[in-house]
This record gives sequence, C-alpha cells and structure tokens, in this order.
Amino acid sequence: MANDCRSQAQGILLGLACGDALGRPVEFQAPDRIKRIHGQVTEMLAHGTHGQPAGTITDDTEMALCIARSLVEHGTFEPEDIAARFVDWKQSGPFDIGIMTSSALQRIQNGESWDEAGQREWQASMEGSNAGNGSLMRCAPYAIAYRNEPAELVDISRQSSAITHADPRCQWSCALFNRTLANLLTGVERPLETILDNIGSELPDDVRNAVGPVTAARHGEPADISLENSGYVVTTLQAGLYHGLTAETAEDAIVDAVMMGGDTDTIGAVTGAVAGARFGDGALPERWLTEINEASELRQLATDLIE
Ligand SMILES: [Mg+2]
Repeated sequence: MANDCRSQAQGILLGLACGDALGRPVEFQAPDRIKRIHGQVTEMLAHGTHGQPAGTITDDTEMALCIARSLVEHGTFEPEDIAARFVDWKQSGPFDIGIMTSSALQRIQNGESWDEAGQREWQASMEGSNAGNGSLMRCAPYAIAYRNEPAELVDISRQSSAITHADPRCQWSCALFNRTLANLLTGVERPLETILDNIGSELPDDVRNAVGPVTAARHGEPADISLENSGYVVTTLQAGLYHGLTAETAEDAIVDAVMMGGDTDTIGAVTGAVAGARFGDGALPERWLTEINEASELRQLATDLIE
C-alpha cells in the first residue's frame, strides 16, 4: 500500500506512543533480564516499571502532546506557551519525568523565562548528566508541521530543545532527527544522507559520529552501532535512527529498540516515530493501538499538523 503524507504523519505520533508504551514496563531493566522474564516484548504489558496498565504512555508522549496541541492551537511555534504547557503537565504530578526537565521547569515555575531556564540549568549541570534524551523524545510534532521548511525546522527544533536541554548535542540531535522525519514525510530518497550533506558541518562531532554507522548500515556495510541504552541523547539518536531506518517492519523496529533494555520507553519512542514515518500508521499493530487511550487524539493532531 502506498503511503501518503497523512498516514506517515499519523505514523510518527502513533509510532512514538507505541514505542513509549511498549518500553514503559521494562524501563531501566538490563536486556538479558528482559529476555529471561518476558522473552521478546511484543505485547503491551501491564504492571512492571512505574506499575501502570497495559498501553500507558509516559512523559515522552505526554510532552509531545503538549507540543502538538500548542502548534495546532496557535498555528505556529510559541515557545512560551509550550513551556507553560510543560509546567502545567509537571504540576499534574506525572509518574515519569526526567531530572533535567524537572529542574528546568521548576526554574520556569519560579519565574525564569523559558529561554533562560534551560540555559542556566545546563550551565549548572556536570558533563555526563547534561545531555539527556529528554528533548529528543518529545520533538517529533515539529517535523510534521515544518516538513517543507528545513531551515525553520532546524531553528525551532533547537529552540524547543533548549527549554529544558540546552546542550548543543541535544539541540542538534533534535534538529537532525526532525529533518530526517521531514525527509521521510516528503519522500526524499536519502533521508539521512542529504542532511549530512546539508548541515553535517554544523553538527557537534559526537552527533555526526553517531550517525555515520547508521548510514553505513543502510548501505549494507558493517556498522559499528553502540549497544549503549542509557539516557544519553547521542546514543538514543543513533539507536532510534538505526532501528527505525533499517528494520524490515515497524513492529520489528520498535520491538528491537525495546529489547535493548535501559531507557526502553524513550529508545522505543524515538524509534517508533522514525518507523511510523517510514511505514505509515497502517504498519503499526492494531493490537497495540487499541491499548493506547490517546490514539485517536494523536491521529487527529497529526492530521491537523499537516494543514
Ligand atoms: Mg518516559
């Protein structure tokens, strides 16, 4: 079945939610433990990490929803509104929230502006805990809305990251990721490679070096893909692009990502957005989608974001 832009846009948001919800029950677990207890994680499981019902989404999808709703309501990128929505969400007491996200949003709650809070939080953080994947996991809605404006998409992805994650590796990971999604949506033949040709020289070394093995793998060459499953933005970006762009099916991509263990919900979410953009919403298992309460809103938002 030929994919159209709407199906692919819905695939992005629904794939993100599928990966998030599939990974949620096994978050923080080592891959051998996951395998021993569950075998392959191919079904939405109840209980587990965070003790939630099957199909429960986490901060990854919740924050993407904040962004998507704001874009649809305002018809443009309003960072102050998005920051305010993040703060409202934090005040609702979510069961899952990243440390840097929580600290930066607390600053905004205390009166700092959205563009100062993330910057100051970053300056106050040590190397090793200052470049998490907390902005990458939520940024996909911009790729749909700004798919035809590559320069703007880069700027907005970076600014949105900086609300909570100002490190250049985080900002540029979001930009590169969203450009990849936009290329998939608009049918660009070499979705990742063209971006490297275009903005490769601007990328921080760590980000550029992480993407090299993914392009090699896409060309059937042996690829040195890191098996690191921590919350570091660069390895999450690599894992998401690798599984999302090389798996044979959307389901395989998301399951393989979750089976890496560690930060499974976010690695799953990032992978799911790529796989959804590539294969469209129809490739996501119906048995997963029926478990996700937010599926119909995500579908509607994706449609609205196209227009
Ligand atoms: Mg999460």
